[in-house]
Formats: sequence, C-alpha cells, structure tokens
Amino acid sequence: MLLRKTYRFEASHVLPRHPGKCSRLHGHSWVLHVETEGQVNEETGFVMDYAEMSAVVKPLVEKLDHRHLGAWCVFLKDRTKIDDSAISDSLLAEIWGADEDYFSSWKVPGLPLDFYPSSENLLFWIGSQLAEIQFRWSKLALEETCTSYAELGLDEFMVWYTNKNGFPAAQFVLEGWMKK
Ligand SMILES: [Zn+2]
Repeated sequence: MLLRKTYRFEASHVLPRHPGKCSRLHGHSWVLHVETEGQVNEETGFVMDYAEMSAVVKPLVEKLDHRHLGAWCVFLKDRTKIDDSAISDSLLAEIWGADEDYFSSWKVPGLPLDFYPSSENLLFWIGSQLAEIQFRWSKLALEETCTSYAELGLDEFMVWYTNKNGFPAAQFVLEGWMKK
C-alpha cells in the first residue's frame, strides 16, 4: 500500500541561467509530497505511522523554510567568472556589504554553495537527504507553483545517486532500506 504525506515551505530562489523570468529573484510556497510503500503491519494496522514519517521529513522541511535555495554563487560566478574555491561567505559579505552571519542564516544547511535550485535538482537533493538517513521513500514530488509539479521515482533516483556518489554510498542506502 502507498502512503503519502504533504509538507509546505516558503523559500526564495533564482535560476540565473534561465532565459526568462526565473532568472530574477522570486519566492514560492513550495509543496512537497512524500510517498512510502509497504505491507500493512497486522498488529499496528499501519504501513508506517504518519507521525514517524513527519519525525523524519519535518526537520528537513524546517531547514528549507524561509531560506534562499542556493545559487547565489552560481549567480556571482556567471557574472564575475570567479571559481568555486574563491566563493565564501566573507566574499559575499564584502560584495553585498553585510556581515557574514546574516547571509549564513539565509542558507539551507547542507545545500552546496553552487547548488542550482530547479525543482528537479531540489528533488534529487531532498531524496538524498532522506536516503542518507535511510528513510525509505518510494516517490517524491514538488510543486513549485499551483500548476508546476515535478515527480521523482526511486529507480531514477538510485541511478542518479549511484552515478553521483558511487556504488558503496548507494549500497549503504539500499542496505538500510532492506532492513526496514
Ligand atoms: Zn521559481
């Protein structure tokens, strides 16, 4: 049986390489759908307690809520041609005239500095965060607007994750999932 729970968060992003309006800074009321599949446990009557799902997903959603979803560095890189290693909070602070801690508070903890925040990339990142704590999801979907919806299945994710992180990392995720 399939269970789905929905979470909401508010966050800004900018897609500097987009040829149209997404290249301008803007915000969304994002909606994340998390699905998990499994057998119904006869004793509990549940596949999974929804509260158990929320205990895992809510801290992740809180990391994203009222933050800026990456790409300020891509934005800077595109315009200044500086390389990744030269990008730091202090450089950003210097350019934008604010103190370092202020910008840090905008960031999503754990999101790479050069993260390019399309819905598709966000789904891979959210999938990785959940996989790395061995939360067994079966499908993730993200609504960026009322009419735009991206969905990521487990097979596509595992191929992407293995290519990105290597076989041992993927094996760790799969082994964790098998145990549950
Ligand atoms: Zn957008």
